[in-house]
Amino acid sequence: MALVVQKFGGTSVADCEKILAAARKAIRARQEGNSVVVVVSAMGHNTDHLIELAHQISEEPQAREMDMLLATGEQVSVALMAMAIHSLGHSAVSLTGGQVGIRTDSSHTRARIKSISTERIRQLLAAGNIVIAAGFQGIDEDYNITTLGRGGSDTTAVALAAVLEADCCEIYTDVDGVYTTDPRILPEARLTRQVSYDEMLELASLGAGVMHSRSIEFGKKFGVPIHVRNSQADVSGSLIVAEPEAPGLAVSGAALTRDEARISILDVPDVPGVCHQIFSPLDQHKITVDMIVQSPSASQVADISFTVPRHEMAATLRTIGPVVERLGGRMGECSDSVAKISVVGLGMAEQTGVASRMFAALARAEINLQMITTSEIKISVLVDKAQSLRALRAVHDEFGLHQVPAGAVTDPFRTLGLNPHKVPAIDVIQRLRGVELEGLTIDDISLDSTQASITLSGFPNEVGVAAGVFGDLAARDVFVDMIVLTWTGSPVSDLTFTVPGSQLPRAREVGAGLCQRFPGTRMRELPAIAKLTVGGIGLRSHTGMATGIFTALRDAAINLESISTSEVRINVVVDPVMGSLALERLKSQFARVLR
Ligand code: ASP
Ligand code: MG
Repeated sequence: MALVVQKFGGTSVADCEKILAAARKAIRARQEGNSVVVVVSAMGHNTDHLIELAHQISEEPQAREMDMLLATGEQVSVALMAMAIHSLGHSAVSLTGGQVGIRTDSSHTRARIKSISTERIRQLLAAGNIVIAAGFQGIDEDYNITTLGRGGSDTTAVALAAVLEADCCEIYTDVDGVYTTDPRILPEARLTRQVSYDEMLELASLGAGVMHSRSIEFGKKFGVPIHVRNSQADVSGSLIVAEPEAPGLAVSGAALTRDEARISILDVPDVPGVCHQIFSPLDQHKITVDMIVQSPSASQVADISFTVPRHEMAATLRTIGPVVERLGGRMGECSDSVAKISVVGLGMAEQTGVASRMFAALARAEINLQMITTSEIKISVLVDKAQSLRALRAVHDEFGLHQVPAGAVTDPFRTLGLNPHKVPAIDVIQRLRGVELEGLTIDDISLDSTQASITLSGFPNEVGVAAGVFGDLAARDVFVDMIVLTWTGSPVSDLTFTVPGSQLPRAREVGAGLCQRFPGTRMRELPAIAKLTVGGIGLRSHTGMATGIFTALRDAAINLESISTSEVRINVVVDPVMGSLALERLKSQFARVLR
């Protein structure tokens, strides 16, 4: 007998009729011979209302009491859902997170799951019940009620599916599935049939907003197929699994994150340990840092820029102001009206010219790029917030994301129930003994010594110049891996990119051409570099990740030439003679979470 976890979001249980409709879906799955576990969110906007209520009583309600309050939203839903199933003549039992045995840490309002016991659910299932579990909540060591952060019911559902060794986790929501971009922003967005965990991880945390990104991390870690579908319409939805929709597709989705702030630090000493001094205080304040960029400097000083969520800008400036002063640097122009546009695709890891197409499309739309970061499967640019919609549309059009890609899977759902990636429950449980369920997991620490880098300093950052450079590189068939464009606040900045060492001569021609056209630009090349990559799950949600890297490298007195980050990877470039030492140090730094 197959086991299915079905999750119904707030809009899918917004009123009694919808609860009954959801109950019928659960019963149908049961009648088809499955064991069924249902996870529900609070009805409609109930969680928002509870938060408002709390704020009417107190400006700063205690987090513990907040959780006590918010958890009631889901408790209402589970009871009503069980009653609905009873009224339709079937047996069901509702359970709170605590009753299920979902143990979390004690960070109220953003707790992480540490373990889940499956005993009670299994017993109830064996007795023929549909089990209704409250999403979004758990209990800590001392039986305090905790919640997992907004949108956390997705995480409850996928985590339960993992520990129960479910065949599928169905997420019922108010949209038809996963789109190539947020359809509320771009109506031409296309519903995808299938998307890979990795793409989704980049997209979910980038703000595509369909799912809580921690739930995707779970799905990937434990090989749970996640089926996103509309609770109101009978459409087939989208499947989130290991493979992409079409093999080799360079770009499968685009995303816009509007609420970003750009922080820029200028003229700090270019010596080991500086990044550590800047980023560890931010980590202590649990400020999530994104898009860190640093370019190799020709002088003794370096510029570093990064983004933080807009509402953390003030706290960020307060935290790093004194550090930067102590280092003898200064703050560059910071801004809270920027937006990040990203394109994602597993296939771009093997293709040339993807960046150049993206930059050219943006240049045609007259959009200037303030910062660029890349990973193997993602390119992100920072643009002026006022231009963000135009920018998103330009890239969505450029990569034809509104069309079904060639070679797309035709019926991904056929394979449901035949999950080849499923991790046996026994392994899940065993893994839990060593590592926390939601702990950071690093699955890749590697050293690449085959590349070279070119830095163009005094790069005239005007519309179209970056597009020209990468267009020329693509025309010469140069494979560009890492791209870093820093923000200096002045009309010129630094552009760095890495290429295979053997392609350096061709890349150099492009750089030289640019220097000729813009006499203020100087080219500097590092014919050999050591590029270190740390990749894994939870980088975004675990603020200590970047700090861990910076600490390990500082302790080994290794200087960073450049840095570029994405949601699931951090890349740093160091002197080639330091490469193996850096690799060794990073491996020991993350030994506990390396898989
Ligand atoms: N009810 C919670 C929220 O609104 C959890 C969820 O819906 O996933 O954030
Ligand atoms: Mg949700």
